[in-house]
Amino acid sequence: MFQTSTLYINKQALTHNLNFIQNLVGKKVRFSSVIKGNAYGHGIEVFVPLAEDCGITHFSVFDANEALRAYNASRQNAGIMIMGMIDMYELDWAIQKGVEFYVFDFERLFNALEAAKRIGKPARIHVEVETGMNRTGFDERDVDKLIKILQKNKKYYVLEGICTHFAGAESIANYARILTQIKRYKNHIKKFRRHNIKPKYRHVASSAATITYPETRLDMVRIGIMQFGFWPSPEAFINYISDKIEKDDPLQRIITWKSKVMDTKYVKTGEFIGYGTSYMARNNMKIATIPVGYAHGYSRSLSYQGRVLINGHRVDVIGNVNMNVLIVKITDIPETKRGDEVVLIGKQEGAEITVASFSDFSDQLNYEMLTRLPEEIPRIIEI
Ligand SMILES: *Cc1c(COP(=O)(O)O)cnc(C)c1O
Repeated sequence: MFQTSTLYINKQALTHNLNFIQNLVGKKVRFSSVIKGNAYGHGIEVFVPLAEDCGITHFSVFDANEALRAYNASRQNAGIMIMGMIDMYELDWAIQKGVEFYVFDFERLFNALEAAKRIGKPARIHVEVETGMNRTGFDERDVDKLIKILQKNKKYYVLEGICTHFAGAESIANYARILTQIKRYKNHIKKFRRHNIKPKYRHVASSAATITYPETRLDMVRIGIMQFGFWPSPEAFINYISDKIEKDDPLQRIITWKSKVMDTKYVKTGEFIGYGTSYMARNNMKIATIPVGYAHGYSRSLSYQGRVLINGHRVDVIGNVNMNVLIVKITDIPETKRGDEVVLIGKQEGAEITVASFSDFSDQLNYEMLTRLPEEIPRIIEI
């Protein structure tokens, strides 16, 4: 495998984060590790066995493809739950393997029950109810019909969960909307209970809700971004830390992204650097090229704004991030030479570049930048 950069996944930091989260929610609350988006870029195949070593027994994915990858990567027979897309022809596989999946419409429900009948094994379903996100979920007006079908077909399914998803628990701006969702969810649960339908797990909380609305932890939490050492938003971090004496961030980043200097050169005052005329050298400068660009997942939105570490120094990305190359200014560290280590995300000699330091541009950049890290970049576990 020839690659221009490498990702390192730190096991100690992961262990630390998982313990922190499990202690926070308590032992009675099940921890489902959300690994959609290729485990937020960390790599499903690398991450699943690592998380299992740290005690994780349940994973949540978006679709059947990720479920298959998680299933193959699991060494300890973990539970796997599909929260989004599963096609009709993928249901048989899921039921046979005991993979759990969301059911949010009648068509999928009928297909699942039918497949279960045919296979002779119950479908492990999570009924998703609509509470106000308006993406997927059974509407209130459909619940009576749903309950009737569930009562009639008890042999063909196991009700693993009743769940919903909040429309932005990471921002206080959505406070009223989230409270309404919590209320509607409770009403749903009451109704199911009146008809003697009880799920094994009631679950609604992602990282943000787990922090900001502790009452939503219920029987299981679905934690994505936090296990990787990132807060879902600065607000969520402030919310957590506000009543703590210790103000240090309790989470640790588990990812480091490294490359090497490809070349260096001097540029004279007045010359343009890179494509077009957007960056002019205002002094005599020394620059280094790094063989990583937006095709490798280094966001183009970091043009002129990103920072990388070389020889323990923080240096600026200048000009636009190109498809395969970015250029940094090394005038202050002229000793830099070809082959020197470059840290794009992570630590080097006491300095640190966090993905979060980019997130001033957008709260979503953590999620986006991580999940855009291409699958081909090798992931190496650091013990
Ligand atoms: C992504 C996702 C989560 C996890 O979100 P984080 O903010 O990363 O913790 C939980 N539930 C659902 C339905 C999701 O899609």
